[in-house]
Amino acid sequence: MHKEIRSDKPGKCPKCGGMDLIEIEESNSKEENMNHQDDEPSHNSLYTCPMDPDVIKDRPGKCPKCGMDLAPLIKSENSQHAGHKGHKSMEEDFKRRFFVTLPLVLIVMFLSPNIQKWLGISIDFLSRDILIFILGTFIFFFGGLPFFKAAKGEIRTKSFGMMTLVALAISVGYVFSVAATFLFPGESLYWEISTLISVFLLGHWLEMRAVRGTTGALAELARLIPQTAHLIKGKEIVEIETEKLAKGDRVLVKPGEKIPVDGIVISGESSVNESMLTGESAPIVKNQGDKVIGGTINGDGSLTVEVAKIGKETAISQIMELIRQAQESKPSVQKLADRGAFILTLTAISVGIATFVFWLFLIPQGAIFAATLAVSSIVVACPHALGLAIPTVTTITSTLAARNGILIKDMKGLEVLRKVNYVVFDKTGTLTKGEFGVNDILVSKNSKLRPEEILKLAAAIEAHSQHPIAKGIVDEAKKKNLKLPEIKNFKSFPGKGAEGIVSDKYILVGNRILLNELKLEEDVFEKNIDMGVSTGVYVAVDKKVEGLILLSDILREESKEVIQKLQQMQIKTAMLTGDRGNVASEVGKQLKIDTVFAEVLPEDKVNKIKELQKKGSIVAMVGDGVNDAPSLTQAHVGIAIGAGTDVAVESAEIVLVKNDPKDVVKAISLSRKTNNKMIQNLLWATGYNVFAIPTAAGVFYPSFNILLRPEWAAILMSMSSIIVVFNALLLRRAKL
Ligand code: ADP
Ligand code: MG
Repeated sequence: MHKEIRSDKPGKCPKCGGMDLIEIEESNSKEENMNHQDDEPSHNSLYTCPMDPDVIKDRPGKCPKCGMDLAPLIKSENSQHAGHKGHKSMEEDFKRRFFVTLPLVLIVMFLSPNIQKWLGISIDFLSRDILIFILGTFIFFFGGLPFFKAAKGEIRTKSFGMMTLVALAISVGYVFSVAATFLFPGESLYWEISTLISVFLLGHWLEMRAVRGTTGALAELARLIPQTAHLIKGKEIVEIETEKLAKGDRVLVKPGEKIPVDGIVISGESSVNESMLTGESAPIVKNQGDKVIGGTINGDGSLTVEVAKIGKETAISQIMELIRQAQESKPSVQKLADRGAFILTLTAISVGIATFVFWLFLIPQGAIFAATLAVSSIVVACPHALGLAIPTVTTITSTLAARNGILIKDMKGLEVLRKVNYVVFDKTGTLTKGEFGVNDILVSKNSKLRPEEILKLAAAIEAHSQHPIAKGIVDEAKKKNLKLPEIKNFKSFPGKGAEGIVSDKYILVGNRILLNELKLEEDVFEKNIDMGVSTGVYVAVDKKVEGLILLSDILREESKEVIQKLQQMQIKTAMLTGDRGNVASEVGKQLKIDTVFAEVLPEDKVNKIKELQKKGSIVAMVGDGVNDAPSLTQAHVGIAIGAGTDVAVESAEIVLVKNDPKDVVKAISLSRKTNNKMIQNLLWATGYNVFAIPTAAGVFYPSFNILLRPEWAAILMSMSSIIVVFNALLLRRAKL
């Protein structure tokens, strides 16, 4: 009850006595959520339309598409429920209006002369028409209200669509009927519009229920995003949740990582990519005292950052941003669908008018007949199914994907994936486990160092790197209980190695490429060493090579299967690595990969992709490292794998959460399935109109006596929407 009461222990509230204290999350953001629960907007909330999950706004209001009240989207897990509640209440509203009007609709039907004629009964009394008028008016206003509201929104934003058509159809019917009751003698359309409204309410209720089943990807996405930081606690570095950071904490930001919070650089030097916040693409150099922004990407140096801001401005807003990105990404076919819906709306209105004019003046059948058919054609041509055809599929796809550990950042990426005919894999950490074990440590001829000392120096540097090789070296040092000295001026050379200063000595660790670049002598060992299929990491002190650490990695069991499966799908495979040729060709042989690119400099990786693209291949690149980022961007589809670096994740269209290359095959199969569903839905949503519109317009009336009454038109229209939604829902059961 009293939110200002804080205690670090559970117990009773001192203010109101009896109440049990409840646990609050430490993070500010969650507190914010609790305080803002009574739907007071907080800056970070997003709002979505219950009908159309593609509509996302940063403040509450009306949906620009359909005019409905926006419901809060996800802020945390809590507010996901809020989002569902909003949607649910709309659903409940349709349901309530349906059941309230249903008995009245039945009475109106029962009293209508036409129906009585069919039933062969005759109940007539003096004020029957007035009673029908009163009931019909109530049904029209009470049942029609949600549609009028939504139509108002559409008209205001000039995005005429479904709701405008529905409102138009029932209004035409109603006005006509009122006129028939009071102005000129004639039959009214009360029971037709009443049933029409009933069917629409039912249709919307069922459809929203179905659509509700398709959402939920957001919460899953949010949960999948790793949110940890390296907190410096005295001499130790501990992983903690970014949300748990407090002002004044110091965090270590390793090369290529996202800076977790807004803060000030205490030590270290690096360039930081702030393009995602500022639009400035050139990296900005950061030194002691400089401000860094949460969510930006650290370059090749490591930084110690003091936390200056916490909570929703930073980590949480990052998640929001990612969700927004995912949600706003639309497949290209969406454009086609939107265009189609627009054309269909215009068609509906034109056909409606034409039908009325035709049956009233050209082949005069009376105003009732003409108005009924006009209403039918407007109703049946509602492009509702078309509006749902793509979004329902994409929401299910992203849910299904998330459930399978596939995070779709850009739907267009997934769309292209089905056409890919060349998949390029990064070797380390993608095809191999990226768990390096140290096999041997060699000491150069003239070195005075012991192997342990070489390992210690290398490990001191590698402690700041996040390359799998670095981890292998650090783990070996830990195993041997070596105490690692402090280092200064750490810098990594992606795809080559790293450097730093240990007690005034300049230490360099890296591969042959790096030695050659810096013109260091590499042939300093006793005999011509045979590294076999080990990866060698040279260790140099003050520009003299002192030792060589030999490591080997383990092939993933799944890799072979993946290559095989891809080849069965007529997709070629390539491996791209900065590692030695020997190691690469051995791995390539074992996996039966089509093409192997070895000892590729990081800056050249992207050229290899371009090469394949020039030959006409549609290329997907699968990688995890900082140095894979450009190739991920260059490829037609970039797939970041595993707990890959943030840079890789940032550059990719699709992120595989697990470290399992098999998910690449899954993603391709998902892409194909998704595409099929979208095509099916589009065909269905447009195709049925080919028959429905002419039928409704009365084309088949003269020769076949076939007519489509408004309520049947409404049923057909609702059915087509529901079929589209259910067809999309079938995708949920798809096996990837
Ligand atoms: P891959 O292309 O196979 O994923 P990388 O491009 O990440 O591999 O690295 C290529 C090579 O660069 C490694 O095989 C290793 O020799 C060297 N290298 C990269 N980072 C480091 C590091 N931190 N320490 C030592 N060597 C490294
Ligand atoms: Mg790699």
